Amino acid sequence: AQARYADIRNQPAQTACGKVISLQMNAGLMADLPSLESSGAEGVGLFRTELQFLIRNQMPKRAELSALYARVMDAAHGRRVVFRTLDIGSDKVLSYMKPNEEPNPAMGWRAIRVGLEKPGVLRMQLQALIRAANGRPLTLMFPFIAQLEEYRAARAEFDKAMARERRLGHPVPEDFTIGAMLETPSLAYAPDAFFEDVDFISIGGNDLKQFFFAADRENERVRRRYDTLNVSFLTFLEQLLGRCRAMNTPVSFCGEDAGRPIEAVVFAALGLETLSMRPASIGPVKHLLRRVNLDEVKTVIDAARAQGDQSVRGAISAYLRDLD
Ligand code: PEP
Ligand code: MG
Repeated sequence: AQARYADIRNQPAQTACGKVISLQMNAGLMADLPSLESSGAEGVGLFRTELQFLIRNQMPKRAELSALYARVMDAAHGRRVVFRTLDIGSDKVLSYMKPNEEPNPAMGWRAIRVGLEKPGVLRMQLQALIRAANGRPLTLMFPFIAQLEEYRAARAEFDKAMARERRLGHPVPEDFTIGAMLETPSLAYAPDAFFEDVDFISIGGNDLKQFFFAADRENERVRRRYDTLNVSFLTFLEQLLGRCRAMNTPVSFCGEDAGRPIEAVVFAALGLETLSMRPASIGPVKHLLRRVNLDEVKTVIDAARAQGDQSVRGAISAYLRDLD
């Protein structure tokens, strides 16, 4: 499939109306890194650090993690890698941690909630990331932030880790960017201070969608019931993107939907300029983006909504069919 898109691999994802969309890839293992070259991704928009914890049978040591993160940064050759701090709990269970029996793990003690209440692992991970950077730029984000105070507390952990490293005489990154994943609808309505404090927002569409529609992403019976192109969800995204624009907060999208060409085109038409997806999706998404006019796509979205469509998929598919 990659070969089919080889001719556009080194071309920008520039739409027919002239807008350039940054396409990034999702990764989590060292083995994913060669895809940076083969897919034509501009960087790693989501590096899921929990995969390294999930493939082991004991807690990794800080030095091991630091060496691994350094290798990831080396392999990216200066392209940006967004490290997402540990997102365990929910569907990601570590064999060497005491299982936490919960009725609803996806809405339970997971991700940053664990990181802030039992900060040992988060602190080790932040230290490993700072050491791995060894003075190079560092970008990281915290998963499952649901309110401003969680972002502030997580960022305070990062600041403390930086101060500790400085005290120890280790080089620390001068250039660092600390984001929040928006995976719960609540965060879209956080005070303006959240949009000011955060260096960037990355929309985790997989979780966001399951909480928006109250439809378990693991439950086959309900997970496909609600279309991502449902007008309610798109209106929500539009409001969120409007706030980001007003507050000058960089925003990207890194859920699986970013890798689906029709969804990607709709997201771009709503104003998203950075999409992160599995490497194999970059070719097909770029191919379609290069053929569309986003103003026309936006007009089709608005017309479908005005007409009372539940989802804009039908209208957008018809528009794309008529492109040539
Ligand atoms: C998401 O929720 O959209 C996301 C990117 O994170 P994960 O799929 O790892 O939960
Ligand atoms: Mg998630």
